[in-house]
Amino acid sequence: MQKIILSKLQQKILLDHTCKEEPNEACAILYGNKIEGGNIVKEIWLTKNDTPSPIEFTLSAEQTWEMDQKRKELNLEIIGIFHSHPKGEAFPSNTDKKFMQNNPYVWIIYSGINKNFRAFILESDSVEIPIEGK
Ligand SMILES: [Zn+2]
Repeated sequence: MQKIILSKLQQKILLDHTCKEEPNEACAILYGNKIEGGNIVKEIWLTKNDTPSPIEFTLSAEQTWEMDQKRKELNLEIIGIFHSHPKGEAFPSNTDKKFMQNNPYVWIIYSGINKNFRAFILESDSVEIPIEGK
């Protein structure tokens, strides 16, 4: 069973970013390390939603390039992708599932309705994994 370790402080950083981007979806890249049975988030890069919308997000080509540069600079792995659903549940949409296939990281989603974070990985379908935060 996998899990993701995202500290309370990191959750606060994501939450602040989410509030700032409302009513549109917010997104961020989570860098860290894989350990046995889990993923630890060490650095968060708050990205700009290139398709400002309440129901989708994209990264510009520049940001996609920078995402990889940062990974090398930080000497960490890309662990996860965060985005918010301002008016939806913290559950991957069909579009998210499609992107999850090409981006096999932990997907953390924040629901603006339920005010909660949930994490998913894609197996044959999306599977929820626990978020452990201190
Ligand atoms: Zn989504």
